Amino acid sequence: MIQEVVYLGLGSNLGNKIENCLRALKEVSGRQNHIQAVSSLYKTEPVGFREQDWFINCVAEVITYLSPRALLQFLQEIEELVGRRKTFRWGPRVIDLDILLYGTEVIKEVDLIIPHPYLHKRAFVLVPLAELAPEFVHPILKKTIRELLEGVEGEEGVELYAPPPDIGEFL
Ligand code: ADP
Ligand code: MG
Repeated sequence: MIQEVVYLGLGSNLGNKIENCLRALKEVSGRQNHIQAVSSLYKTEPVGFREQDWFINCVAEVITYLSPRALLQFLQEIEELVGRRKTFRWGPRVIDLDILLYGTEVIKEVDLIIPHPYLHKRAFVLVPLAELAPEFVHPILKKTIRELLEGVEGEEGVELYAPPPDIGEFL
């Protein structure tokens, strides 16, 4: 049976951002996915398309019994479920759920890339990830999360917003 430690990145910039993240974590949690830890919640500046509202970002450490592909599909279902509650059909998504790391696996498929291709370039991912797994070695870059964070730009756009949610909420 598969059992792997994964790190999931969560982000929301529409509606009740914190509620969206917590709701997504509740949906993730279940028989197939056990939430072990959640980082603090960060208020972050948008990267890329800058003409949009600020984000709430956090990272969750999860024991999963799903394959990478099944986990991706499951997360996409949760994105739809959480997103559709809060917005009109073609409106902006209220939650983004990314697989940042799936143990030490390296996957390069068209629609599934692990480690997440922007993991090492985004302070809004590395700051919360470093809270949970500073010594985790990136399986391709062979650097720890702490080292990647030291080398990243844009840390000034990542501000501590709230302490980690109580994971008891997700059990
Ligand atoms: P982004 O997260 O880059 O802002 P989306 O959430 O819209 O954008 O994701 C677009 C696509 O990224 C998804 O359809 C999914 O197939 C693909 N994808 C590739 N690798 C991953 C990953 N590690 N985690 C989540 N999605 C991924
Ligand atoms: Mg995504």
